[in-house]
Amino acid sequence: MKLTNSYIGLPEDFYQVVNPLPVKSPQIISFNDELAQYLGLEIDKKEALKYFSGNSIPENTTPIALNYAGHQFGNFVHELGDGRATLLGEIEVNKERFDIQLKGSGPTKFSRQGDGRSALGPVIREYIVSEAMHHLNIPTTRALAAVQTGEHVFRDVIEPGGILTRIAKSHLRVGTFEYFASRQQWENVKLLADYTIQRHFPEIRVLDNHYLELLKAVADRQSKLIAKWMSVGFIHGVMNTDNFTISGETIDYGPCAFMDEYDPATVYSSIDHGGRYAFGNQPSIAAWNLASLAGCLISFIDEDSKKANELATKVLDDFSIKTNQEILDVMCLKIGLEGSSDKHQSILKDLLKIMIPNKADYTLSFRYLSLALSDKDSLFLDQFQDQEKIKEWLSNWKVTVKELNLDSEKMVKKMDSINPIYIPRNHNVDKAIKATYEENLDPMNELLEVLKNPFEENKKYSHLTVPPKEEEKILQTFCGT
Ligand code: AMP
Ligand code: MG
Repeated sequence: MKLTNSYIGLPEDFYQVVNPLPVKSPQIISFNDELAQYLGLEIDKKEALKYFSGNSIPENTTPIALNYAGHQFGNFVHELGDGRATLLGEIEVNKERFDIQLKGSGPTKFSRQGDGRSALGPVIREYIVSEAMHHLNIPTTRALAAVQTGEHVFRDVIEPGGILTRIAKSHLRVGTFEYFASRQQWENVKLLADYTIQRHFPEIRVLDNHYLELLKAVADRQSKLIAKWMSVGFIHGVMNTDNFTISGETIDYGPCAFMDEYDPATVYSSIDHGGRYAFGNQPSIAAWNLASLAGCLISFIDEDSKKANELATKVLDDFSIKTNQEILDVMCLKIGLEGSSDKHQSILKDLLKIMIPNKADYTLSFRYLSLALSDKDSLFLDQFQDQEKIKEWLSNWKVTVKELNLDSEKMVKKMDSINPIYIPRNHNVDKAIKATYEENLDPMNELLEVLKNPFEENKKYSHLTVPPKEEEKILQTFCGT
């Protein structure tokens, strides 16, 4: 495994050189062969176990832990950093650079009071959910390996330890910029911005105002990302600026969850008391996070601070408008209506309004709507308690579809290609974790298998389409750190 280290070219304040701390008796719980192949990693399971447990370091690489700060629930934390992760190195595929990072690999100078370790549960959760996101065509870090360490970690209870090997386009966060900006280390902010442009947005190099363009480019990626989250009911749970990437990938799957019943106020995270990161708040929180990035770059945008402010504010305003538009477009497509005209928007909003009091399942309501095109209305209608209202809505929708004269076969295909039938529902992820703790990997493997094709119904897995029964519902999720 030949790794490189471009981040080490930055000054020493950007990272700490540190090796993972070896573990007692590691065991591979899951290895992502398809991803390993894509990355061109020619390693067998034995080598994978050595490297991805942190017990061996690949030759010619210098593992590091990255420095960053961040706003957590709106409060600035001066120093965070990789307290339980090590960047093993980078790998280049088709001119694109990826980080290979171990998470749960032992203490670093950023660990504060933490042990630098991770319990196996959160490792499995991140593995399953990040891979599911990838197959739902949502930008995300990916999971290459999950290892059980053979050691215990002490949380509320004693738990088996785990290490996740994560692949990311980079681990640059808004919090990375905030680390240097809050210390007024402007030279470092500039070096970081230039490194970012080189790595993620090389097209900016020929443009005039690099740092304004950088802000625009990050806003553009995030706007597409958030719209995708909203379209599948994904709730990140901790959208702190240190968990908000510059690359536009979803990162740091802690108390994240897919919503079962639709309600914009849905919160699962046990630490989100005020609902700051509720499902419906995600677009405005993304704007908040981008405003933090803008604050770091502002002095490079224009020498005239008034002008710099105007330029940055315009990017942020555009972000909110564009994100709203992206969300409306994708949501209208979910009900088969292309282009979010006022009429289409109002049909969509009527449906969402009915879904809330009916506790309609977010995934199945949209998925089963396409069946109504061949007059198989019942699976769709079954998602609603109040039949009168939804029947009225459905007939209105059918009239609109008829007026548009759309080819219904094509429409079904389109709708089914964006409305998944399988999502990593909380209760199923939880069952997979519990089974793994009892040394049964079957539920995890089954879930991983079915989530590879989330848009294709497979009768064999029909039990995985079903929303949780009342007693199976998981109402709270935990970071597990
Ligand atoms: P997170 O909430 O997972 O995004 O992590 C927030 C911060 O806490 C980061 O700086 C992590 O590196 C650090 N952290 C989380 N868990 C641990 C741990 N077990 N040991 C050391 N640092 C940790
Ligand atoms: Mg984090």
